[in-house]
Amino acid sequence: THFGFETVSEEEKGGKVYQVFESVAKKYDVMNDMMSLGIHRVWKDLLLWKMRPFPGTQLLDVAGGTGDIAFRFLNYVQAQHQRKEKRQLRAQQNLSWEEIAKKYQNEEDSLGGSHVMVCDINKEMLKIGKQKARAQGYKAGLAWVLGDAEELPFDDDKFDVYTIAFGIRNVTHIDRALQEAHRVLKPGGRFLCLEFSQVNNPLVSRLYDVYSFQVIPVLGEVIAGDWKSYQYLVESIRQFPSQEEFKEMIEDAGFQKVTYENLTSGIVAIHSGFKL
Ligand code: SAM
Repeated sequence: THFGFETVSEEEKGGKVYQVFESVAKKYDVMNDMMSLGIHRVWKDLLLWKMRPFPGTQLLDVAGGTGDIAFRFLNYVQAQHQRKEKRQLRAQQNLSWEEIAKKYQNEEDSLGGSHVMVCDINKEMLKIGKQKARAQGYKAGLAWVLGDAEELPFDDDKFDVYTIAFGIRNVTHIDRALQEAHRVLKPGGRFLCLEFSQVNNPLVSRLYDVYSFQVIPVLGEVIAGDWKSYQYLVESIRQFPSQEEFKEMIEDAGFQKVTYENLTSGIVAIHSGFKL
């Protein structure tokens, strides 16, 4: 396994990945915006639109880091639930919009029973996520758990949806993480993975190479003082299986109806599968 300029064994990879995210945690969000020119926000929104959570959805977001997917999920279910309820209230009880707004001041009531569990192996990333949640006023419907994607601390058949965004390439044994995803999902549950993938357009590919190898590590050094972590980021992206190979791995873990969708010429892809 390559790691920056070093080659490390499988056993060492977990420890190295831990060091990378421990070191970048505080600057993680700003670096994401800088390096992706803000596009990671759109990719994450698209993951939510693909998920289309229904009222009461129990989501597990693995490698959830600083909470980007969790917060999007809470915004989505809150808006969805409130739209539905408000329409019903106005129709049935003839309430004014002011009266309805008052009723929805209590956030807990307005999630329709939906809940997201953020699980990450790195306590520094979780710490930043929790600080963000407090600062942005997220209270209900959210929990944070320290845990390894390869050995999830949850019972079988527990969640409706499992997401992992830009996380699975950091896991040492991807096959184990996929098996764990399958185990903790309820029958009928959905696996969704947002991850860097293989670019399918030659022009984009050339620009992307220059950007990845020449710009990203420099940005890492200038902004976060951490060339090596961002060198790792670039190399881990290059080593991740192609769209088709990863699809097969998901099928091998027992998922069915596995599909993927390329975003931005395949710079990233969303893979989806169901536990049936
Ligand atoms: N999902 C977040 C996002 O999209 O912004 C964070 C992604 S960040 C690039 C990768 C995350 O994976 C880090 O927070 C890291 O700690 C976590 N991670 C790495 N290996 C893991 C493992 N084996 N189990 C759980 N989380 C892991």
